Formats: sequence, structure tokens, C-alpha cells
Amino acid sequence: MFHGKVVLVTGAARGIGRAIAEAFAKERALLVLCDVRPEGLEVAKRLGGLFVYADLAQPEHRERFVEQAVKQWGGVHVLVNNAAIAPPGSALKVGLDDWRQALEVNLTAPMHLSALAAREMIKCGGGAIVNVASVQGLFAEQNNAAYNASKGGLVNLTRSLALDLAPMNIRVNAVAPGAIATENVLEAIQMSPHPELTRQDWEDLHALRRLGQPQEVAQAVVFLASEKASFITGAILPVDGGMTASFMMAGRPV
Ligand code: NAD
Repeated sequence: MFHGKVVLVTGAARGIGRAIAEAFAKERALLVLCDVRPEGLEVAKRLGGLFVYADLAQPEHRERFVEQAVKQWGGVHVLVNNAAIAPPGSALKVGLDDWRQALEVNLTAPMHLSALAAREMIKCGGGAIVNVASVQGLFAEQNNAAYNASKGGLVNLTRSLALDLAPMNIRVNAVAPGAIATENVLEAIQMSPHPELTRQDWEDLHALRRLGQPQEVAQAVVFLASEKASFITGAILPVDGGMTASFMMAGRPV
């Protein structure tokens, strides 16, 4: 579906970003991946793509990421804003530095990268942007004020971009994953005092009563970026095993 199309994925060194890169590689996309983790280089090499070291908190790194993509493959067709951080802390406790960093990486970087990429997409006749938001962009979780706010912002940024870029034939959508079994999440479960109970608790948040797999998010991202979604823009697609289908914890019996 993406033969000859240039696809940029942020935060592709591991987790959901790596699964997204792998899914686009299967569709024969020309990949440009970025991350602050050096493992991103191995992922890019394995998938025949380009790796650009970029700290997305730095505006000039974002510019270099898009410039390198154009230099390598001649344009940009798809951008996936996946990289994010989640500094824990309640609204009372989150430090201003953590707050600013979360907003910069999770919200400002997707906005800036979308503008930079859109200018290149226009030259190619159009394109697609997919933002990786979260169920926490739709509802809030305790002790996660900065992440909740940044993902809520990303959800409405998705709609704004969809409206602003539609005349240029650029579609913009987002996925809102539930809990996904990435290294990150599995580590957090393992570090908890009762890993088995914690895992069960997390599974029970979903109507399907399990964690999602990174590939299940990746498939939704590829769909939204593809021609199969040609009349879909400004949509927020939950990939959450039914978590947000209920106002209660979806999988729990009443
Ligand atoms: P992860 O932490 O495993 O991966 C995120 C990647 O982004 C990492 O490789 C990290 O190095 C990179 N990154 C972080 N800060 C960066 C920066 N300043 N510049 C460049 N790269 C940077 O996380 P994940 O679980 O794979 O999550 C990926 C996306 O999915 C995130 O947007 C996250 O908010 C979202 N999400 C994840 C889950 C989940 O359960 N895992 C649920 C909902 C949403």
C-alpha cells in the first residue's frame, strides 16, 4: 500500500513506534525514523530505512529530521507523531520543568513536525498525518497531569490540523490506545509490588480483558494513513479493547 511512499515515524526505537515502523516496512514504505535512543539505528537498518538522531524537545532537531527525509527520499507522504514521555505527578506535585518537557515533546513537537511535513506533502500533492494520542487524551488518570493534558491537547490539535490541512489534500487522524504491552508497560507492571495483580487490574480495564499488542495499534495507524481511509480526517480512533465504551471500568463485572 505504501510502495515508494516516504513515511516518517517518531520514537521508533522501541514499543509502539517500532511496531508502526515494521508495519509500514511490510507495506514497502521508504522509512525515516527518529529517536533519542540509539537502538533506533538498528531498527532502521533492519527495515532498510534512515535513522535520524533527534531530541524532539529541540526545534532544530525537528527541522533536521524532516530535512534529512527530503534529502534521502525526495519528499514526505506520511508523518506519524508517536514519541512521547509521561513524567508522573499529580497536578499539585508535577514540577514545571517536567510539565514543560511533556508539553514540548508530546504536543508542541507534533504541531511543529506536522507543519514542517505538511509543507513537503503539499509539494507531493497531499499526504496523511497520524498522531498517537491515548485514552488519557479522552479521559484523565490520577497522578498524570502533564501527560493527560498533553494528550488532550494532541486530540484537539488533530482536529485543528485536519481542518487546516484538508484544502491541501492532507488528512490528519489520531489513535487513542488503551494499555499496550510495550517494554515500558511490562516493566511498570514488573516493578509494582504485586505484578500478577497489577497485570490483572490493567487487563480488567478493557472490555476484552487483556492488554493490547503494539502491532494492533500499528495496524490502525497504517489503515488511517492509507488510501483505505481516504474519506476519514479529524477522527480519533480508540484502539483500547473497549475501555472507553463504558463510563465504568469496562471489563469489570457489575
Ligand atoms: P516508549 O516509551 O516505549 O516509546 C516512546 C519512544 O519515544 C521511545 O523510544 C523514546 O526514546 C522516544 N522518545 C521519548 N522522548 C523523545 C524525544 N524527546 N525525542 C525523540 N524521541 C523520544 O512508549 P510506548 O509505550 O511505545 O508509547 C508510544 C506512544 O504510544 C506514545 O505516544 C504513548 O503516549 C502512546 N501510548 C502508549 C500506551 C501504552 O500502553 N504503551 C497507551 C496509550 C498511548
